[in-house]
Amino acid sequence: METLEDIEKEIRSCKRCELHKTKKNYVPGSGNPKAKIVFVGEAPGREEDLKGEPFVGAAGKFLNDVLSKVGIKREDVFICNVLKCRPPNNRDPSPEEVAVCGNYLIRQLEVIKPDMIVCLGRISANYLFDHFKLAFTKISSVQGKVFEVDSWNKKIKIVPVYHPAAVLYKPNLKDEYEKTFQKLFSQKRGQQTLLDYGFIKFENNQN
Ligand code: SF4
Repeated sequence: METLEDIEKEIRSCKRCELHKTKKNYVPGSGNPKAKIVFVGEAPGREEDLKGEPFVGAAGKFLNDVLSKVGIKREDVFICNVLKCRPPNNRDPSPEEVAVCGNYLIRQLEVIKPDMIVCLGRISANYLFDHFKLAFTKISSVQGKVFEVDSWNKKIKIVPVYHPAAVLYKPNLKDEYEKTFQKLFSQKRGQQTLLDYGFIKFENNQN
């Protein structure tokens, strides 16, 4: 059976698109191989390209901050991107690049089999909605909503949110973004939350 290491090894020698020529490092993804939740961004940026790690720049720090406020540690989840190499000057990935590199992401998801996939931004949401046969309109219409699909013999949740870099660029979205994460991940009696996913322990279950 394929492992995340097998896929990572393949990524690290990939030449399936031109981006391998301009990247400094491949960025396959990192985190818990048995994660219940996988966060999927668009593509590595400058810092990620330099370090070979996903979400380590300003957007990554903001994401860490938002996650820690709802009790999620990076090491509990798996974080990666649709593309494993940085597009020059952080341009949008082309549809061809998404199609060819997205296959690695799908294989990573097949290995992890998470209960929830959080799509960070439009490119990731568009790609994963397509893959799971959901209708994608635009990120502002679907962000913060929970979609349920059947996969890996269970129900899994697909949750699109804005890309953290977009929120840093438009600070007026910050409050709404943090509230979305609170709504999704903070436990309140009678509401379905990540308590169902087993790894977040809440000290206080009272309303
Ligand atoms: S972006 Fe993806 S498909 Fe293109 S070279 Fe990098 S790993 Fe390969």
